[in-house]
Amino acid sequence: MKKDELDMLVICKKCHTLHQKIEIHKDTKALCSYCNTVIYRYTSHLSRNTLALSFTTLILLIVTFLFDIMTININGVYKSLNLESLFIVVFGQGYYLVGIMLLFLIVIFPVAILISLILLLTLMHHKKSGYTVKRLLILIAKFHHWSMVDIFFISILVSMVKLFAYAQIELGVSFFSFILLLILDIIVIKKISFNELWILYESIYLKDNKK
Ligand SMILES: [Zn+2]
Repeated sequence: MKKDELDMLVICKKCHTLHQKIEIHKDTKALCSYCNTVIYRYTSHLSRNTLALSFTTLILLIVTFLFDIMTININGVYKSLNLESLFIVVFGQGYYLVGIMLLFLIVIFPVAILISLILLLTLMHHKKSGYTVKRLLILIAKFHHWSMVDIFFISILVSMVKLFAYAQIELGVSFFSFILLLILDIIVIKKISFNELWILYESIYLKDNKK
C-alpha cells in the first residue's frame, strides 16, 4: 500500500474499525459506522482558538516559573518556594539525575511543546512551510505526553499537606497561576486532537496538489 493511500484511512479510537476518510463540511463530524464514536471533526475555528489558548498557557507557564509558589513560615523563619529555589536545592544536594529529569519534564518539554504548537498554528494560518508543519505535528504527537506539570503540582500539594502540621503556609502568585495553567494544560496539550490538526493540515497544504 502506498503512503498516500494509508493517509486516506482512519481508525476508530474505541472499536478500532478501519474507515476510509471522506471530506466533511466545516463544523461537522465523522462518526464510526460501527460504534458511533466521533472519529474526526472539522472545526472552522480550531486553529484560531488553539493558538489563543496556547499563547495564554505559555504566558501562565512563564508567570508560574517566575514567581513564588508559596512562602513557608516555620517559627518565624520565612522561606519562599519557587522553581528556581527548587532546582538550587535539588542540584545542591547532588541529585543531578532527578534535577535534569525535572528540568525536562516540567520546563523544557512543556515550553517546547507550546512553542511548537504556536509555531505550527501560525504557519498553518498563513498557509506556509507545509514540510515544517508536518514535522512539528509529528514532534508534538510524540512528545505531548512528556509534559508533566500536572504531576509536579500534585506533588507540591502532597508536600503542602505534610507541611501544614508544623508550618504556616502563604500561597504565592504562582500557586494560583499553576491552577489556571493545569486547566489550560488539560484543554490544550492533553486533549489535543491530532486528527483534527491533521485534517486541517491536509485541507490547507494537500488540496492543491491533488487537483
Ligand atoms: Zn468505532
